[in-house]
Amino acid sequence: ERLYRVKRWGGGYFEIGENGNLHVTPAFDNPDVRIDFNTVIEEIKQEGVQFPVVVRFHDILRSQVALLNQTFRQSIKEAEYQGQYQGVYPVKVNQMREVVEEIVDAGAPYDYGLEAGSKAELLTVLSFETSEKSLTILNGYKDEEFMRLALLGRKLGRNIIVVVEKYSELLSLVRIAKELNIDPIIGVRSKMTVKGRGKWESSGGDRAKFGLTIAEIINAAKYLQEQGLGHCLKLLHFHIGSQLTDIRSVKDAVAEGGRIYAELRKMGVDMTHVDVGGGLGVDYDGTQSTSDSSRNYSMQEYVADVVYGMKEICDLEEVPHPNLVSESGRAITAHHSCVITQIVGEIKNSDIQFDTQASEDEHVLVSNMRDLVPAFDNGSNLQEIFNDASQWKEQAIEAFKLRVISLEELAKLETLYWQIMARLNQELKQVEFVPEELKGLEYALSSQYLCNFSIFQSAADTWAIDQVLPVVPITRMNEEPSVNCSLVDITCDSDGKIDQFIGEQGISDVLHLHKLKPGEEYYAGLFLTGAYQDVMGDMHNLFGRLNEVHIFSDDDDPADFYIEEVVTGSSVSGVLSIMQYNPSAMAKDVKRAIDRQVAAGNIKPREGVKWTDFYEDCLHGYTYLKTGK
Ligand code: PLP
Repeated sequence: ERLYRVKRWGGGYFEIGENGNLHVTPAFDNPDVRIDFNTVIEEIKQEGVQFPVVVRFHDILRSQVALLNQTFRQSIKEAEYQGQYQGVYPVKVNQMREVVEEIVDAGAPYDYGLEAGSKAELLTVLSFETSEKSLTILNGYKDEEFMRLALLGRKLGRNIIVVVEKYSELLSLVRIAKELNIDPIIGVRSKMTVKGRGKWESSGGDRAKFGLTIAEIINAAKYLQEQGLGHCLKLLHFHIGSQLTDIRSVKDAVAEGGRIYAELRKMGVDMTHVDVGGGLGVDYDGTQSTSDSSRNYSMQEYVADVVYGMKEICDLEEVPHPNLVSESGRAITAHHSCVITQIVGEIKNSDIQFDTQASEDEHVLVSNMRDLVPAFDNGSNLQEIFNDASQWKEQAIEAFKLRVISLEELAKLETLYWQIMARLNQELKQVEFVPEELKGLEYALSSQYLCNFSIFQSAADTWAIDQVLPVVPITRMNEEPSVNCSLVDITCDSDGKIDQFIGEQGISDVLHLHKLKPGEEYYAGLFLTGAYQDVMGDMHNLFGRLNEVHIFSDDDDPADFYIEEVVTGSSVSGVLSIMQYNPSAMAKDVKRAIDRQVAAGNIKPREGVKWTDFYEDCLHGYTYLKTGK
C-alpha cells in the first residue's frame, strides 16, 4: 500500500489482499464482495482470451451511477432543497454500447438520462430507452439535421433539451420548430468568466469555444418571447472544464451560474433547470490535491457545494430552487475498466554481461575505466567518479568513430561504465547529500519493462497530456519489489512509454515492480481507464482495439464472478481493411509468391502449404504479441 497507494486511488473498489494480489470490491453498498483479480486473470486464460485485455467491471459502473444519484438525493434532502436532481451521463466519455446500456439500466430508478454532443451520439442516445421523466441533453455544435433529430425525440415523448451553444443555432432551431410545429425545450449555455483549474481550463473564460455571452443570453430570451416560444427556454447550462482539480472553481461556477439563473427568473424567464455540466474529478494519482491528475475534494463535497451553493443564491434572490442537472462522465466511468498486460521482457543497460578482462595492448581509455572500480574503496569522491566515467565514455565513442578503439574495446568500456554507475547508485543511497547531476542516475539505471500493449491505443492521455494513471502488479504485492522500472510498450515509437507513476512521495519517474521469474507470468494493470481512453485510442502500428472481458459479480458467492461477455479485439485483417487493404487478396498474393518458390524448388510443397496456412492464421489473428502457452 505504501508503494502503490491502491486505497487512495481505488475509490473503495480496489485494495491489496493479504495474499498480495489485487482485490476488487465492485459495489460500494456491498463490501462483502471481494474478487481476487488473479482469479479473473485465470478465468480469462481459461476462456482462451489473449492478452492484453480490457477488463470491465459492470458492477462498478452501476455502483458509481447509484452513488452519484444517491449523494445528490441525500444532499438535497439535508439542505431541504426544493428542486430535484436529474443527472445525465455524457456518452462521449465512453460510448461503448454495453457501458451505456449498463448506465441506463442502473440509472432507471433515479430517472438518470443521457447527454449527446454530436449527431452520431444523438442517434445513439435516441436508440436507448431511458425512463419517462429522464432528460436527454444535447450539447455541441448542431446542424439542421441535428435539430430535426432532436425534434423527432420530442415527438417520441422524450424530454430532449437542445442546449444552444452559439446564437445562430437558436435562429435555426426556432425556424425548424415552427416548420414542424413542435415545441422544443431549449437550454442556453453560458460562457463563464470562471475558469476551471487543470488541463481543461480553456472550457471557461472569454476565449471559451462554446456558449453565449450574458448579452446573447438576454437577447435569446427576448427573441424567444417575441417568437411566442418564451415558455420553451427551460435550462441554463455551464461547463467550465473536465477534471476540475480545485473545489473553489466549482463553488465559483455555481455562484456565477446561480446568479445568471436568478436574474433570468426575475426577468420573467420560466427556467426550471440549471445544468452544472461535467468536471467532477477523479483522483488518478491518489494525492487528493490540486495536481492535474487529482482533485482536492470528494464526490460528497462536490455535490454539497452544488446543492447548497444554488440554494443559498436562490434564497437570497427569492427565486425558486431549480432542478439540478449534472453531466459527470469521468467520475461515472473511470474506475470500471482497466487494461491488463503481461510484462514480456526487461531491458536494462547495466545488466549486460560482457567479458571485461584486461587484454594486451588495450586502449588506455578502457584501462582507465577499469581502474575506476577500486576508487569506490579508497574513498574517492562520488561526483568525481561520475565525472571521470562519463567523460571517458564520451571520449571512447569519439575514439571509436575515429577508428582509434575497436568495437570490442567499446563494448568492454560501456559494460564497465554501467557497472560503475550501478555501484555509484548504491553508494549514493548511503549519503545524505546527492549532487544535482547524480539525481537522474536512478532513472538512467532503471529497467524498462516491456509490456504487451500500445500506449496510443490504451492510455492515450498518458502520452498526449501527461495524465498519470495508476499502474500496479496484479500479484506479489506482499513481496518487496526489487526492480525500479519504467514501462515501454510494443509500438515502434519511442514515445510509447510510461514514466510517470504514483510514488511513495508524490509522482515518481520509476515504478517499483518485482523481478521477473523465468517461466512465471507477471501481469500489470493500468487502472482508471474507463473514461475517455477507450475512444481516444488510436491504431498506431496497427495494433487496434483490445480483447475485452465484461465481468459481473455473482450474487450467490461474494468471491465469485462470471465473464458475461467477451468482445473480440482487432484482428490483423480487421485493421488492414480499415486501411483499405483486401486481406483475402493479400493472402492470395503471398500464396502465389510461395507457389513460385515451390515451383523453383526452393521450398518443398508440404512446407509451402504450411507457410501459406501460417500467413493466413496470422492475418486472422490478434494484432498484439502472442504470449503465454
Ligand atoms: N458536459 C460537457 C459539455 C463536456 O464538454 C464534458 C467534457 O468535457 C462533460 C460534460 C463531461 O465532463 P466530465 O467527464 O469531466 O464529467
